[in-house]
Amino acid sequence: MQRNWIGGEWLAGPDSLANINPSDTRDVIGEYALADAAQATLAVSAAAGAFPAWSLSHPQQRFDVLDAAGTEILARRAELGDLLAREEGKTLPEAIGEVVRAGQIFKFFAGEALRTPGQVLPSVRPGIGVEITREALGVVCLITPWNFPVAIPAWKIAPALAYGNCVVLKPAELVPGSAWALADILARSGLPAGVFNLVMGRGPEIGPALLDDPRVAAVSFTGSVATGQKIMQACLSRGAKVQLEMGGKNPLIVLDDADLDVAVNCAVQGAFYSTGQRCTASSRFIVTSGIHDRFVAAVVARLKALKVDDARKTGTDIGPVVDARQLAIDLEYIRMAQDEGATLAFGGSYAEKNVDGQPGFYLTPALLTQTTNTMRINREEVFGPVASVVQAQDYDEALMLANDTPFGLSSGICTTSLKLATHFKRHAQAGMVMVNAPTAGADYHVPFGGRKSSSYGAREQGSYAAEFYTVVKTAYTAA
Ligand code: NAP
Repeated sequence: MQRNWIGGEWLAGPDSLANINPSDTRDVIGEYALADAAQATLAVSAAAGAFPAWSLSHPQQRFDVLDAAGTEILARRAELGDLLAREEGKTLPEAIGEVVRAGQIFKFFAGEALRTPGQVLPSVRPGIGVEITREALGVVCLITPWNFPVAIPAWKIAPALAYGNCVVLKPAELVPGSAWALADILARSGLPAGVFNLVMGRGPEIGPALLDDPRVAAVSFTGSVATGQKIMQACLSRGAKVQLEMGGKNPLIVLDDADLDVAVNCAVQGAFYSTGQRCTASSRFIVTSGIHDRFVAAVVARLKALKVDDARKTGTDIGPVVDARQLAIDLEYIRMAQDEGATLAFGGSYAEKNVDGQPGFYLTPALLTQTTNTMRINREEVFGPVASVVQAQDYDEALMLANDTPFGLSSGICTTSLKLATHFKRHAQAGMVMVNAPTAGADYHVPFGGRKSSSYGAREQGSYAAEFYTVVKTAYTAA
């Protein structure tokens, strides 16, 4: 049984959970201790106790710890990628790619520990100097989802520690193995006891102990809008800093003048890889009339050639859906779309077993055509390998439809017109804009985040992470 890491000790919990391989539900990967509210509070106490010394620790110490963690993650990419693919269902190449990204993030933030931003400004008064510095916040609670179980914890943990905060990580229940592996690396990294803590536990049960504790200065959350709203309420009611990264309903516009191969590649990669379980997945293809039929036919042809199979098998393009609950949601949205008048142009069929007879959650990528932007399939996040096509007359209508959504995470366009691409970059209502590139797939060293109900608060990743994980101090010195 793998335990929680609290105050520099591995602690058993009052309960436990197992993670199951979605490619083969007979495969129980491991057993993990579940923390209760009292242990969550213990983790906050440990982090609060460690904060005074860690916040004043030498930046070289923080660099060394983060750099070493990054080195170990990169060295163990194959093993950690295998675990990730086994518990989450991403294909092995995608999973290894995610692990590599996590290692790079730790190394990036090792460097950031040495260049925490500050400023010296002249005063408007004679004989006074002004220095603006950034300081750590205190205890930060990091709550993460199941779909990027290594990279998302990494892009929260690394900046939090780099800037001198102490961390309580609460990962998603579905993927405790990846979080535990990260915690194990950090536990051996030379961090003082209490600086980093892992509490695996059921969100609704241990959430209040973390969110309502006045010693938790800030909460960084990635997950669904519904949970994010609860977390925002809890944090804002007591004035805690909060950062929320939530869902998307990301459009990909395909214009008549697009290179068809580029457009199909963007569509298939962006919507269906990682089993469509990405916040930045393209789920609405907004396609102008002149290319519509050719685009649909070409996407269907590509989908027919994709292999849906065990995530760890060589040659698999699309792994399984993460669990039975998410599978039921995906199938229900496909059914609802058809009830509302959409045509299922391809896929959407669930196989209980793969070709080798392994029981899993195998869903063929679904393409829905003849949809309108008002249908539920185009208003709500599905979070599976399901995309729909909305036809538009021209660029102006396509842009209007792309922006007509409560979400604003990523927005893409395929066109060969520089003029329209430039216009789109300016007018897309999204935190990230892609031109002739899939809506999913971001760099690790530049800001990541959205608008509208996709995000709240400061951006994540890159040097912009300092906005969230530090507080500004202005010091005046009279000569
Ligand atoms: P979720 O159900 O909202 O859960 C996210 C995390 O919140 C989990 O660790 C969960 O714990 C925890 N949680 C649930 N209820 C809580 C409560 N009352 N108090 C405190 N914590 C609580 O989301 P998910 O299904 O894991 O992830 C999928 C969602 O994440 C999608 O909507 C996707 O778009 C979004 N996402 C967004 C981004 C982005 O950067 N914008 C990136 C990736 C994913 P349990 O596991 O124990 O329930």
